[in-house]
Parts: sequence; structure tokens; C-alpha cells
Amino acid sequence: MSDESCPKCGSPLGDITETSTGKKLQRCSQGSWNPQTKKNEGCEYVKWLQVEPQTLDEKCPKCGSALIMQVTRFGKKMKKCSAGGWDKEAKKATGCDFVEWINGTTEALDGKCPDCGEGLVLYTTAAGKKMEKCSTAGWDREARKATGCAYIKWLKPGEIPNNAGEEFLPPEE
Ligand SMILES: [Zn+2]
Ligand SMILES: [Zn+2]
Ligand SMILES: [Zn+2]
Repeated sequence: MSDESCPKCGSPLGDITETSTGKKLQRCSQGSWNPQTKKNEGCEYVKWLQVEPQTLDEKCPKCGSALIMQVTRFGKKMKKCSAGGWDKEAKKATGCDFVEWINGTTEALDGKCPDCGEGLVLYTTAAGKKMEKCSTAGWDREARKATGCAYIKWLKPGEIPNNAGEEFLPPEE
């Protein structure tokens, strides 16, 4: 429990929890997430916390400073230069402007591909959509065509494995 109280109902805020994509939030202690009904119960106040940017073991190709990993409010990931900043008054970027968007991530899944029996992976696109695909699938850049097994299944929010319920949380303020 923290000392802060909920602006909606005045109850203390609960412990800080982390979503599957690494975002941190604090719920009102009078509210809870029900995974069965996929709804908030009780007070629905959620406070999103700023995720500390993670310093990477990589150097900026432009200026040689360390790169940091940042997650945007929509769950997209990017690498940016630690020498870059944002001038709030002038509303413009300062310092080094190197940014590299991370185009989707893959995580190994427990299941087996129904087409070929190889492992499955969960692929999250840069826009946050998720699909299950075969681990043997690939992309031939030169031929510009898919290689390996073609099994793909787009997942609806209710079908996403290990979903912490993030898709259903109220929007950040
Ligand atoms: Zn509350
Ligand atoms: Zn830089
Ligand atoms: Zn397959």
C-alpha cells in the first residue's frame, strides 16, 4: 500500500503492479481486475506510472552515447539516444535525435504448429496486434516472399495467452 489516495473515492492506492509488456500501474485498493469477466470490479481508478527507461549495452550510431529502451504509452518500443531530450518550453527535441523503432517482438509459446508440428511463437506487431505463427516461418528479403511454414493465426484480445488484461484497462490519463 502507498500513502497516496484515490482521486475518485479517497481509498488508498494498492501496490504497484507490472503488465505483461512491462508497463507499471497502481490500482485503487477498492478496485480489482477480474480475469474471468475481463472487467474491473469496484473503483476503476488506475494510475499509470512512468516506466524508467532501460539503458542498453549499445551505442548510438550518430554520437556514440548509450542507447536507452523506451516504451510508449501505446506499448510500442523504441531505442533512443540518451543524449536526446525534449525541451518542454520550446516543444522541440534537443540533443541527439537518433530513434530506432522496434518492429514487433516474438516470444516462444508452448503449443505446437497444427501444420508441421514445430514450435509456435507469439508475434506482436509494432502496432500491438498479436498473432500466433510457426517458428519455422521466415521472410526472404531478397526474394521478397515468405519462407518455411505458412501457419498464422491472428489472435483476438480474448485469445491472447498469458494476457494480464492490459487490453481492457482504461486508457492512460
Ligand atoms: Zn478508488
Ligand atoms: Zn546519439
Ligand atoms: Zn508450422
